[in-house]
Amino acid sequence: MIGDNKTEVMPMQSVSEPYPNLLLIDDDPDSRMLLAHLLKDECRVREAVDGEAGLALIQAQIDEGDGCNIDLVLMDLVMPGIGGIEALRQLKALPLCSDIPVIVLSSEQHEEALIEAFAAGAHDYITKPVRKVNLQARVGAAIRLKREMDLRLQREQELAEANGKLKFLAQHDSLTGCANRRYFEDRLSQEWLRMAREGKSLALVMVDIDDFKAYNDHFGHQEGDICLYFIAKVIQSITRRPADLAVRWGGEEFMLLLPDTDIRAACIVADQLLVAIRKRALPHPKARAAPIVTVSLGVASIVVGDNFVPDNLVAAADHALYQAKDGGRNRLYFNA
Ligand SMILES: [Mg+2]
Repeated sequence: MIGDNKTEVMPMQSVSEPYPNLLLIDDDPDSRMLLAHLLKDECRVREAVDGEAGLALIQAQIDEGDGCNIDLVLMDLVMPGIGGIEALRQLKALPLCSDIPVIVLSSEQHEEALIEAFAAGAHDYITKPVRKVNLQARVGAAIRLKREMDLRLQREQELAEANGKLKFLAQHDSLTGCANRRYFEDRLSQEWLRMAREGKSLALVMVDIDDFKAYNDHFGHQEGDICLYFIAKVIQSITRRPADLAVRWGGEEFMLLLPDTDIRAACIVADQLLVAIRKRALPHPKARAAPIVTVSLGVASIVVGDNFVPDNLVAAADHALYQAKDGGRNRLYFNA
């Protein structure tokens, strides 16, 4: 019946690894008791009396939201109800469960069912009556495989996160966290095409800190960087919709890209920005417009169509900014 009890079986996990969870699905109570006994030192064994009960147990875990923590399933093939093959199919179709190895338990006379079981996604099989050495070796191998797959998935996840961070760094300015100029160019082209398809307006607010050279000369470049950071935070706080983009254009120049925004709405946003920066009231004794850090804003909006290219929008905002500077700074001008 059972293999030699004296045979030594290597422990299947190191101390640092979590204890594996095994789900044993078998309608025969004697068989369950025997298998659970043989595996009690290797795994935490949970038992289910048939396929439906086993699937319900896994589904309940998934519903709790923690994912499925089963590392291995031992599935009897011949059971009342949906039977082992159908239970296996349903298990493999569950979200988060396709990677759980399943070892099917079959008796000698049901060997033809094994072909079906492997087609349904079985990882291995053990014939009943079960031999201890055979059982422990195969369960151990399946659990090691599951551990390796989990580790690989975890590494893939870490790699994806690292790639995400790299992508962010490549698209954003490190000092302020605003989008950088290259990312702005990409987004401008994308939004231009999107607004063209939808026949909508694309707006641009060009922002320039007034007398910033005098600020740097007075306070030093380190304080200058802190000022840029604070102003960037105010600009970012103005972008409220997902497609709005705050950009560091270069030096003390920033941009707000506002898709689906006409000139009137863009001027409202620009005015909010003007007021918010005045309220921030960073002291600037050398400024000509006021004793605080202020900005000049050039606002433009274009109903995107065949008559224009993105550079027209940038040039229009730039021209308005020039007028704002010329008009005495700490103000906005617009170009419709
Ligand atoms: Mg059975």
